[in-house]
Amino acid sequence: MKKNILRFYIFILVLFTFSQLGNSLAFAKSTAASISLATAATQAQAFIFPTRGYITQGYHVGHLGIDIANKQRPAVWAANNGTVIKIQQGCQEGNAYCGGSYGNYVVISHNNGFQTFYAHLQAVSVKVGDIVKQGQNIGTMGRTGSVRGSGAFLHLEISKNGQKMNPYLLLQLK
Ligand SMILES: [Zn+2]
Repeated sequence: MKKNILRFYIFILVLFTFSQLGNSLAFAKSTAASISLATAATQAQAFIFPTRGYITQGYHVGHLGIDIANKQRPAVWAANNGTVIKIQQGCQEGNAYCGGSYGNYVVISHNNGFQTFYAHLQAVSVKVGDIVKQGQNIGTMGRTGSVRGSGAFLHLEISKNGQKMNPYLLLQLK
């Protein structure tokens, strides 16, 4: 009788051990799955540096974007695939209030709640509703709206679900 009880306890113990092992395996699998999902999401959200130039002002309180300057007024590219949802054009240099002081600009909506905003453009080469590919030409760097200094520069903002984020941390800086 006692032997049978002992066997029964060993049987339960073995069952328990296997069920715990199963749980930790399942946990390991789900952790691995969420890590690979997170990696894929990060890759999908990699924004390219959207023009040629050097950063003259970073992201800080009172300036929730970055400024990229270049006196050559190069092309500005879509930082990622998306849809153009808003543009401002027709602003002339010297009219500081045009476009709400941002001058000519483009707003692109991307996956996962991201938006990019490109301001002070000399010219805009897309229209609302255009589907743009990463690297596609969307305009030319300029100095429309309210600008400081003497040269042309791009004011770039990246937001997620309406929250402005530091572009420097999201851009692929080669
Ligand atoms: Zn700026």
